[in-house]
Amino acid sequence: MGLPNTPQRTNINFVISTLKRAIKEEIADRRFTPRQKEQVIQLLQLKNPECAYCGEAKLKAWDHLLPIKNGGDTVFGNLVPVCSSCNSSKKDRNYQDWMFRTAEGSLRTRIGEENLRIHFNRISEYVVQSGYKPTPIQLRFTKRKLKLLDKRQKAIESLLRKLHLFISESKKK
Ligand SMILES: [Zn+2]
Repeated sequence: MGLPNTPQRTNINFVISTLKRAIKEEIADRRFTPRQKEQVIQLLQLKNPECAYCGEAKLKAWDHLLPIKNGGDTVFGNLVPVCSSCNSSKKDRNYQDWMFRTAEGSLRTRIGEENLRIHFNRISEYVVQSGYKPTPIQLRFTKRKLKLLDKRQKAIESLLRKLHLFISESKKK
């Protein structure tokens, strides 16, 4: 039936953001089992899985309540299921800051004050019950290791800048 789709194009910005994320994830813990996923739904007091922030039934991803760049981990107690609009709106923010934003198009204007409180309280309860306590990055590593990580991060950022420059120059020709 008809012709196949045009070959898919890989977006360079997507590749770069994935690379940045991989670097950040190096510093974080990562252990999240299928059983723990079910426990999250239980502790959020949900009958069926739904977006922890807004209640949408169609789920897109597991979101870090405390983002990795702020010392969060990919573990039980720091992850909640979210829909695609919450996922793309929250980005790298702490969940408390993002949930109570008042800007136009914010969660508050989308679901209303009362629902916002309900969702926030459920999440807070889940975090408490999970016993998860993020470890600040300064306490995770020795000073030497932190210096090394910092150096590597800077080297990669300079590499990315060169890459951007290379791409924009190639486009001109
Ligand atoms: Zn949502």
